[in-house]
Amino acid sequence: IVCTLTITYYRKGVVHEQVLPPADLAFASELESAIAHQQFYLVFQPQINFQSGEMMGVEALIRWQHPQLGVVSPVKFIGVAELTGLIVPMGAWVLRAACMQAASWTDPGRVNLKVSVNVSPLQLRSPGFVAFVSTVLQETGLSAERLVIELTESAFVHNDSHGAETMLKLKQMGIKLAIDDFGTGYSCLAYLRDIPGDYLKVDRSFVRELPGQERSEAVTRAIVALGKSLHYQIVAEGVETEAQADFLKALGCDLVQGFLYAKPMPADALQAWISGREATPVLIDQAFSA
Ligand code: C2E
Ligand code: MG
Ligand code: MG
Ligand code: MG
Repeated sequence: IVCTLTITYYRKGVVHEQVLPPADLAFASELESAIAHQQFYLVFQPQINFQSGEMMGVEALIRWQHPQLGVVSPVKFIGVAELTGLIVPMGAWVLRAACMQAASWTDPGRVNLKVSVNVSPLQLRSPGFVAFVSTVLQETGLSAERLVIELTESAFVHNDSHGAETMLKLKQMGIKLAIDDFGTGYSCLAYLRDIPGDYLKVDRSFVRELPGQERSEAVTRAIVALGKSLHYQIVAEGVETEAQADFLKALGCDLVQGFLYAKPMPADALQAWISGREATPVLIDQAFSA
């Protein structure tokens, strides 16, 4: 017996149908049981203030500890989760777990850290999302100002009053919004103008080619300048080298995230990483200028 699942979904005003092949279907059913079997966990990647070297917060990223496959990257399963709608319960788990974790940080080094959570377009539009976020904040005791919701450009749909309203309500609660992977999706500059966002994340695909790739340099320069003039805080993501960091810092990026500083890590490793930084607070820059 070959079993397939046809998924009908609505995107950019058009109804699409996609047949999920048997392999994906099996994968989807495993994915569905992963929450109940507690196979998901979060890792956290520090986001650092470029100028002061202070830590602003962390981005929470999901990992799947699969019984046979080992740790599965979200790149491999977020797509299927979105197609099947599983992203809604999965995203709910992520939000709750991330807020719970951040609220549990009571030591001085972490008490003000923000936590950024990736929210998929479907999740943003799911009924009761705002009420759900509000409940999670209440139950975990995390103050709204410490939560950043990261949305990719695909979350912003033209003439989508429900999505826009949801973002506004989140903002009114005090939650911060970040536009993730900027410049790679169906970018529309009107979104940048209209969305009440706080952070703009320059995608790694640009950062990877800095410095030296003239066209990526030009696009990055333009994104940073535009973002700054619209009062976004600019976050550079995927920074792996000193040369990339120097270039982005000189452009005036506010925050930085990347393997050069820290890889995403489980909560206990994050604690150790922060303690290690506190033990050696003198930045190299300061040591030389002193
Ligand atoms: P993203 O939100 O843009 O997250 C940043 C990704 O870049 C993460 O990959 C992170 O590990 C990776 N990264 C950060 N710095 C560097 C670097 O210096 N070099 C390289 N090569 N990579 C770097 P990750 O954790 O594999 O996540 C991939 C994507 O999966 C995320 O991209 C996000 O779109 C999605 N994702 C992850 N967790 C969640 C989640 O809980 N919910 C939803 N809806 N999506 C998620
Ligand atoms: Mg993100
Ligand atoms: Mg990103
Ligand atoms: Mg990215």
